[in-house]
Amino acid sequence: ARQVRLRARPVGLPDAGTWDVVDTELPALGDGEVLVRVTHLSLDPAMRGWLNDVRSYVPPVGVGEVMRAFGVGTVLASRSPEHAVGDAVSGITGVADHAVLRGSDLSPVDLAVASAPTWLGALSMPGLTAWFGLFDVARARPGETVLVSGAAGAVGSVVGQLATAHGCRVIGIAGGPEKTRWLTDELGFDAAIDYREGAVHRAVRAIAPEGVDVYFDNVGGEVLDSALRTLRRGARIALCGAISTYNATEPAPGPAHYMSLLVNRASMTGFVVFDYEDRYPEAIADLSARLRDGSLVARETVVRGGVDAFGDTLLMLFDGGNTGKLVLEL
Ligand code: NDP
Repeated sequence: ARQVRLRARPVGLPDAGTWDVVDTELPALGDGEVLVRVTHLSLDPAMRGWLNDVRSYVPPVGVGEVMRAFGVGTVLASRSPEHAVGDAVSGITGVADHAVLRGSDLSPVDLAVASAPTWLGALSMPGLTAWFGLFDVARARPGETVLVSGAAGAVGSVVGQLATAHGCRVIGIAGGPEKTRWLTDELGFDAAIDYREGAVHRAVRAIAPEGVDVYFDNVGGEVLDSALRTLRRGARIALCGAISTYNATEPAPGPAHYMSLLVNRASMTGFVVFDYEDRYPEAIADLSARLRDGSLVARETVVRGGVDAFGDTLLMLFDGGNTGKLVLEL
């Protein structure tokens, strides 16, 4: 198998020195194990966090270990009662073209319901994060105004579409005119703001002078600070991520406008999607029904290449090279 392993913990953006690409013999299958040919890898902003040696919601990837990644693949050999040869499966495969994995750690994937990239996007962690973050954490209600950053990404594009279908007024924030046009013209967002064009709070105030009830934050940093200035009384912020800070080499400054939480009796709640594991089936059923009836559009940016392309492809997340879910097809 060809694998990507962590060579050295990056400072700032990961680069060629971060990774080792190695060919290795896989062990013979033990009881309960399967051999998987990995066909698609999920590239996630969280991967940057997994490279830091700090306490987090999962342990860091160790130096010398195969890089952690969600993947979809095909079972080539099985000693697990759960998966037969030829089955499509998903799970934490690592960045590798083949892997020996415990059958009980893998889920079956129905490619008749959706394509492999969608099983890594709208029907996987990003879609689930959008679903629980919007409905459970932010408790969005029909008629409310929802502001979402990273809106043309994997999580944000689902958040906006779910909120629209829920009867909310939706404002997306994304980088560049192509992305903002996609949000309004194809996904039905009520408005979209290009954060590179100027202060977000001014643009939001022009669209929604009364302020926003929900802010779903994927990016943190200056956009968060600006969004804090647009809150309405009783607003809820779902703290999903802060990609603008993930490669920072100095601690990022705190939001200057946090007193807006007090003035507006607002709250900001961080969440980790893994805590909702018991309820994944409910959310997957709802998301797949929406895909089927066309009310949810899943989009992926699929890059084709070997595992060698992993390092460069990951960087696309940090310069906005992806629209929708970023997937590496092996
Ligand atoms: P995306 O598909 O949204 O990809 C990342 C996007 O972030 C880029 O396309 C880019 O879009 C934007 N971006 C990159 N750098 C910056 C910056 N400096 N300022 C503003 N925007 C930036 O990734 P995901 O949908 O997978 O993840 C979105 C967020 O959700 C991340 O913060 C991630 O960590 C978080 N997350 C949290 C989970 C949880 O359980 N809490 C689970 C899964 C994800 P643009 O062109 O618009 O700049």
